[in-house]
Amino acid sequence: MPCVLLNLCEYDTQKLVKIKSVKLGSLKWTLNGVILMFICIMLLWNKGYQEYDPVVSSVTTKVKGVAKINIPDIGEVVWDVVDHSGISQGKNSFFVATNVIVTQNQKQGNCPEVPPYGKLCRTDKDCEKGFSDQYSHGVQTGACVKFDVMKKTCEVSTWCPIENKKRPRPALLASAENFTVMIKNNIRFPAFNYIRRNILPEMKDTDLKGCIYNPYTNPYCPIFRLGDIVSEAKENFEDMAVEGGAIGIQINWDCDLNRIFHSCLPKYTFRRLDEKESNKTLYPGFNFRFARYSTVSGVEQRTLFKIYGIRFDVMVFGKAGKFSIIQLIIYIGSTLSYYALTTVFLDWLIGTSCYSKEAKQNYSERKFESVQDREECFLCVSFVDEDKLRVVKKSRKKTLQQTKALSLHQRKNDLASMRTLISVMHCGPSRGLPVQNGQSGGLSRNTDTPLLEKPQSGSQAWCQCGCCVPAATLHEQLCCRLGKGRCITSSPIFSTLILNPSVLETALFYVDPLAELHEGAQLRHGAYSQFIRWRFGDSTPRDAVPVIPSCCVGRIRAEYPSPDDKYSGPRLHQTTPPQAEFNAQ
Ligand code: ZN
Ligand code: ZN
Repeated sequence: MPCVLLNLCEYDTQKLVKIKSVKLGSLKWTLNGVILMFICIMLLWNKGYQEYDPVVSSVTTKVKGVAKINIPDIGEVVWDVVDHSGISQGKNSFFVATNVIVTQNQKQGNCPEVPPYGKLCRTDKDCEKGFSDQYSHGVQTGACVKFDVMKKTCEVSTWCPIENKKRPRPALLASAENFTVMIKNNIRFPAFNYIRRNILPEMKDTDLKGCIYNPYTNPYCPIFRLGDIVSEAKENFEDMAVEGGAIGIQINWDCDLNRIFHSCLPKYTFRRLDEKESNKTLYPGFNFRFARYSTVSGVEQRTLFKIYGIRFDVMVFGKAGKFSIIQLIIYIGSTLSYYALTTVFLDWLIGTSCYSKEAKQNYSERKFESVQDREECFLCVSFVDEDKLRVVKKSRKKTLQQTKALSLHQRKNDLASMRTLISVMHCGPSRGLPVQNGQSGGLSRNTDTPLLEKPQSGSQAWCQCGCCVPAATLHEQLCCRLGKGRCITSSPIFSTLILNPSVLETALFYVDPLAELHEGAQLRHGAYSQFIRWRFGDSTPRDAVPVIPSCCVGRIRAEYPSPDDKYSGPRLHQTTPPQAEFNAQ
């Protein structure tokens, strides 16, 4: 089936380990509870259940106020809104003049340049005809003329007389702080089709007349006193009036359009937009010039005004939120990963044995199943002169006998099954099973084993018992002993337990009661398994493959030889179920 090939018809799921522990269980639920509480608090705090739309707004302003000012050379004049607000400063902005320099009755003509802008001269040679630069008030005529009693400057052709006054201090229009401005702000949230003004629907005409914004007593009045705006921006109006500047009026709309919590009110804040430290700043403040033109007896004249003032920029921010089930689902989805913190924390707690050492061992054994690559095969070795089992890594350079142990494990003798086996043996199991291939000497004990099968004593450098047979591969070069001494095959129990055909048959039927015995290989492999059960029991570590010493393999093969002299050998892989081993060829 193609879908099987493509793994399409499969589903993989994770295996979990359930630890039955009151402590861990209550810790888990406590942590989960804390996380849930945190998520709920953040949900309400950040209003994660809402869908948002940014504000779209328009602003109009109207400044009101009249001031009587005393302008040098002119005298007292009254300035109303047309005079002090001048031309529009652009969208969402308004301007109020606070200081002024007036130069009256300028006419086209020639006059001396004002010193800071034109260099001083002695003769006409110092002046260049037609010269002008960005600081010049006019174009030089080439003449050097008296500026005052002491100085001479180059004559320029321009509007004469040239403006030559310092800005007045205190500011002439400092009383502009009592002017008021009405700000009308219309906003819209297109996604919710919601419209609102900063003149709130519940306000009446009488409320608006005479109201002045105050952050504490009247925070929603749309009429502002300029002095209050500047002081709210933490500035001094008198100082600011001298040089001018820019102030931002910020209107923030943070609206909740849900029915229960409905609120949509403007919040006003103010701050200075230009550089504050006028003492350190070059070209501080804000000013511009304009002129009023007139014709007196056919000659065009103008009055030049250099106006200093404060520009107010109205900036509108804000968003509106409304409950949205989709946003809520997205929010909940995004918080689910926090619960993984509980697992991470508890795993860490168990893993670092902060919790309990026994729990750590138990948990690790159950939770982690280590699987080795075939290349990195671990072997288990049992020496008759050592009490413990050794786990060694399969080496490509050293014989198994010489390979160093990675770890040592206590051997657990499987005495119960051994007792059963021995009791069965004493009862004398029935012999004379059907033998199909008698010639091979497969089932009955072959006492005529040829002598040439006998081990070649001492011929192996790695052999300690003197009984080992030559082995082709390094991992088969293993003796039954660690140090020199008697071979395990010389022990009476070896003959009884490993070589006795009745015992092997019993063991075989014990595993598979209806097994059919017809080949010597079955008993040979039974002997291998019997040896492994005897010497390793079930104490073999999980990933390690038990290895039968060369002398024992040789002895078993001598007892149950293969007719064609070919042996598959005890297979070097993960322990297989006993039945499979018995049936192996
Ligand atoms: Zn040996
Ligand atoms: Zn031996």
